[in-house]
Amino acid sequence: QVVTRFAPSPTGFLHIGGARTALFNWLFARHHGGKFLLRIEDTDRARSTEEAVAAIFDGLEWLGLTGDEPAIFQFERSARHAEVANQLLAQGDAYRCYATPEELAELREQQRAARQPMRYDGRWRDRDPAEAPAGAPYVIRLKASREGETVIEDAVQGRVVVQNAELDDMILLRSDGTPTYMLAVVVDDHDMGVTHVIRGDDHLNNAFRQLGIIKGMGWEEPVYAHIPLIHGSDGAKLSKRHGALGVDAYRDEMGMLPEAVLNYLLRLGWGHGDEEIISRERAIELFDISGVGRSPSRFDIKKLENLNAHYLREADDTRLAALTAPRIAARLGLAQLPANAAELLARAMPSLKPRAKTLNEIAEGAEFLFKNCPLDFDDKALALLDESARELLGKTADALGSVQTWTVEAIEEATRRVAEEAGLGLGKVAQPLRAALTGRTVSPGIFDVLFLLGKVESLKRLNDAGH
Ligand code: GLU
Repeated sequence: QVVTRFAPSPTGFLHIGGARTALFNWLFARHHGGKFLLRIEDTDRARSTEEAVAAIFDGLEWLGLTGDEPAIFQFERSARHAEVANQLLAQGDAYRCYATPEELAELREQQRAARQPMRYDGRWRDRDPAEAPAGAPYVIRLKASREGETVIEDAVQGRVVVQNAELDDMILLRSDGTPTYMLAVVVDDHDMGVTHVIRGDDHLNNAFRQLGIIKGMGWEEPVYAHIPLIHGSDGAKLSKRHGALGVDAYRDEMGMLPEAVLNYLLRLGWGHGDEEIISRERAIELFDISGVGRSPSRFDIKKLENLNAHYLREADDTRLAALTAPRIAARLGLAQLPANAAELLARAMPSLKPRAKTLNEIAEGAEFLFKNCPLDFDDKALALLDESARELLGKTADALGSVQTWTVEAIEEATRRVAEEAGLGLGKVAQPLRAALTGRTVSPGIFDVLFLLGKVESLKRLNDAGH
């Protein structure tokens, strides 16, 4: 059975690269009818925070990428990690190293001066621990093979070879008895039954060292798939400047839908022909590691926005109403919108969502529905409301006032008549009308605006603006 895992370190938010790693692991497991597990790598006690753990769970839940079993917290497994280090020690595949920090600093200094790569020289590898001063602190190091080479047939990177002479004897257990990160990852992956390690290619170098532990324990090697990192649109490594934000920022600040973010992340580094719009179900059907490219992908916020616009148009109007209502309230400085807001917004959605790329843009477009007279006109709208426009508004208000049944058709007919009688194009009437009704110069179609506001409110705004 295929078992994958996502193993974030809770030292910050769930960023977009981490979310993509989670997605690929999740999809791979789903595609193969396997399991997707979550492991919180919280062994760095100083940098791990509860907020970060909560943000990771929150982000994954929003994206629908939750684990198939309760998450494992790595720190809780320290005793097990130590057990493995001690087993390697007992087998002779690890050894006690009594080198003091001063000694090691000196070694590094010499290597630096000689322009040699800095690595531990194995000075305790073949020494008798009895030579160490009684009670002296020690670390446990892996006795890594020095001859030959280590080969990884990486599912993304292809065949990668490292000479074993280049790998020094890494620490497994520190002098205070705590396990190193390298040890913990290997032990946990083994104990969780992980068959496929799919992660960022910044971990490729670690894989060679981690294999040393796996071999020492005689465990089965997982399949490795090191996926290229995400770069910014300028080709540089993704940073905050490029939008390397927490997943929550895409949701809260930018107003993206989770299905759009997922579709975007999927297409970032993975492809299936020219298909751009790929649903979750279709992705499960199609996903395989062979479709992951070897070059870094470039983050492109425009593409994400375009996908989001697509998914907004597809989304259920009641759901969009619920998602936009708090945003509208915030824009208007209200604690909440009136009781009829959800229903009104859902009705308005068909004319709001085709013009928007984000929930924020929907909220911006919907704001006029909940404003009160006198409206806060923006400068452009105000400029449209000159003397002759006001006269025109008066005539339009009269015509609309006599509309009996308030339908879009009846509204349109009355408005067109006003334009005809004034010898003006419809646009010339619609412009001041829009300004008067919404306070702005962009809005949904003007007949929709009138219809959604209702007769009473429309006339009130026209009269108000006409004075
Ligand atoms: N905790 C590591 C990270 O957040 C991932 C380790 C792994 O996937 O093996 O970068």
